[in-house]
Amino acid sequence: MDQLVKILDGYIEKKRQKLTALSEEIWRYAEVGYQEFQSAQALERCLEEEGFTVEKGVAEIPTAFVAKYGSGKPIIGFLGEYDALFDLSQQAGNPQRASFENGPAGHGCGHNQLGVGSLAAAMAVKDYMKEHGLPGTVAYYGCPAEEDGSGKMYMAKAGVFDELDGAFTWHPSSINAVDGTSSLACICVLYRFHGRATHAAGQPHLGRSALDACELMNVGVNYLREHMIQEARVHYAYRDAGGGAPNVVQDHAALYYFIRAPKVYQAMELRERVDNCARGAALMTGTTLEITTTDGLCDFIPNQTLSALLQQGLEEVGAPRFSEADKALAAQFQQGYPAEELKDQQRAYEADYGPAIAQQVAGKSLMDFVLPLQFDPAAHPGSTDVGDVSYVCPTAQLRMATYAIGTPDHSWQLTAQGGCSIGHEGMMAAAKVMAYAGVCAMRDPKVLEKAKEEYVKATGGNYICPVPVDLKPMLDGVK
Ligand SMILES: [Zn+2]
Repeated sequence: MDQLVKILDGYIEKKRQKLTALSEEIWRYAEVGYQEFQSAQALERCLEEEGFTVEKGVAEIPTAFVAKYGSGKPIIGFLGEYDALFDLSQQAGNPQRASFENGPAGHGCGHNQLGVGSLAAAMAVKDYMKEHGLPGTVAYYGCPAEEDGSGKMYMAKAGVFDELDGAFTWHPSSINAVDGTSSLACICVLYRFHGRATHAAGQPHLGRSALDACELMNVGVNYLREHMIQEARVHYAYRDAGGGAPNVVQDHAALYYFIRAPKVYQAMELRERVDNCARGAALMTGTTLEITTTDGLCDFIPNQTLSALLQQGLEEVGAPRFSEADKALAAQFQQGYPAEELKDQQRAYEADYGPAIAQQVAGKSLMDFVLPLQFDPAAHPGSTDVGDVSYVCPTAQLRMATYAIGTPDHSWQLTAQGGCSIGHEGMMAAAKVMAYAGVCAMRDPKVLEKAKEEYVKATGGNYICPVPVDLKPMLDGVK
């Protein structure tokens, strides 16, 4: 084992119990976006105990915080998340559907481990700085509301990440790999139409239907699809269908749109065209229109220089050390997944990594090896607010196995595995890999210079805010 990995492994293993207990505590709180008061407090408390100085409530968000140790440059940051998802409460380690008594929400995306794993990395870098006299600053960014609320976008907009020379984060996963794939930028917009209610049979000529406006807007956008870039993804939902009475002309109706594209500027341009469909629909129906941007995210740009450091760390640390009991339990979860999904996943391994690796995965319940580093020019068709950080400073992201192969994202099965030892092992390994990359980056100014050059080339060195600059986070969750 590499000497540095050995040292960092020692720091992190020494605190194993404290770290896994903290992950389980946040798992139990299962608080949704901007409501993560207990979770943020638990993380803040732990960082204070570790000697970090904590600034609470940054960017005017009560559950956002920054914890720092050391002083001056370079400044390396670790990003932590800790929000849960509605309707995904589930008992820890139970492969049969059974809600946990803590309420409707559950950690169906593993953010309890995400928050604590990044904290453990920051803590190990701090221990290393202390013992080896490494100069600079290590920071932990407590980032709320990743699932719904774009916490990091509001933090980026407020300049919270401006001082960073580099940022590392990770996400719980079924694979062990560095994220060489970008993700789509996304803008969320609410279109609310106002019309005039009348008797739909008696005075239809006096009615102005907000529901008609919604339908015409959707028709317009569906025609627009042929003339947008292929990688764009536009989806909508009715937020208000105008009521249940066919004999009343609907004087109110609303649509909620997500507009995604590989680059944030493309999403912003496309959004203008979707707005125009709404404006046209309002004109056609004689209704009035209110357009509200609720959220937005940049695409994620993986920094190849920092990603290479993560890959080195990943190869040195290796896959999570799953026990036989972990593997057996993961296999029980797999039995509940449709064969079609498992087959689809197997095909994806073959397409992404070739037949040899697909063969290596086949029949396994947990990934017990490390994937090679690949930079894929095509964006992953999801979105994350880590993208906004990648537009502010060089950013790299890791994925570490914390659940069975084939587990759907945002599922109760994922909640269950994140609350037991399968999730703990992945979290511990992720912390070691990130700590390794963090120390390597801090020790070598040339690496950080190269990372910055690459970042400037990719972004122009400027944050592109995907939403109006005066937009405030919806802290009460009402959109
Ligand atoms: Zn997530």
